[in-house]
Amino acid sequence: MEHLKHTPFENEKIIGNNPESEKEEILTKREAGFYNGFLIKNGERRKTGEDLRIIDLSSQMSDKILEEYGLPKIEVPERIIHIIEEQGWPPYAAGCASFFDARELSVNVRDTPFKMELAKHIVHEMIHLKSFHVFRLYEFHGEPFVYERSVGINCVTFEGKKLFFNLDEAITEELAIKICQKMFGEKIFKKENDETKKIMNSNPRSIIDVDNSPKNQQDIYAVRYLGNNKDSGYLKRVIEALKRDKAPKEVEKQYFSYPVERKILNILIDKILMSGENEFFNRDQVFNEFAKAMLTGNVRKVIKLIDDNFGTGTAQKIEKLENNADEQLKLVEALPLVSKK
Ligand SMILES: [Zn+2]
Repeated sequence: MEHLKHTPFENEKIIGNNPESEKEEILTKREAGFYNGFLIKNGERRKTGEDLRIIDLSSQMSDKILEEYGLPKIEVPERIIHIIEEQGWPPYAAGCASFFDARELSVNVRDTPFKMELAKHIVHEMIHLKSFHVFRLYEFHGEPFVYERSVGINCVTFEGKKLFFNLDEAITEELAIKICQKMFGEKIFKKENDETKKIMNSNPRSIIDVDNSPKNQQDIYAVRYLGNNKDSGYLKRVIEALKRDKAPKEVEKQYFSYPVERKILNILIDKILMSGENEFFNRDQVFNEFAKAMLTGNVRKVIKLIDDNFGTGTAQKIEKLENNADEQLKLVEALPLVSKK
């Protein structure tokens, strides 16, 4: 049977090292899922010319990152990016603004009237989409089904446990930040970017957080006055968020995501650089090791980087706290460097 030619991935890449006998079934089942994506029928809105421009920019700029790591470009057809209206957004994803579905091979973003917000989420999910995927055939109540074994360095065990999810998200978001910092200089974002800068300069108090959230002020990438937006679904969401925060605020801020997870990654990077026993001269070089490992699904490389610098078994200790990023952060903060000599 001929398989999808228009997916951004080589078939070999999808199948990974699954047994030969399972390859055909995995491909067939995966394609069935790809064509029958439930979200596509449910709440997707038509893309505007601006959306297409944002998708194009996101794809070009994430390709540049791949190129920097010596990896081939991956063309993303715009039809696998779905902008979902508020009422169609799946309840299981209520807590997030976007997600990548590896089985459907789709990027799903909750609609927002703000281009910078839309772009940030598309870029993040597109990096997941362009990272290494491995699928495996599982059995559920006697029925075979295809599920991802790994996306980037986020591996799923047979028991459904996710390994290195936090580091995978941290690296993905750091790459997204790099892209956004360049991309937001594009003409299409000028109005929102100018408003952000204007508010930050003229009303700096408005962006200070009063709660104890781990969000970092430096992570703010977009600010706008609440009165500017006429979209009712969106306003409802903002009002709900404000109620949760209790303290009324006059502006709405958008933050880069995964602050705790990124702190974990950045502490690891700083400590590895400090050890002085590596070939690294600056923190970018250490980050690049993690980033390339994530994009190519090289989990062993990540384990080696950590264990070589902090002692054998450290990566496993970190991974055991996967479900509790705060505890994981404490562990990483306390990690002593191990001399290899
Ligand atoms: Zn993510």
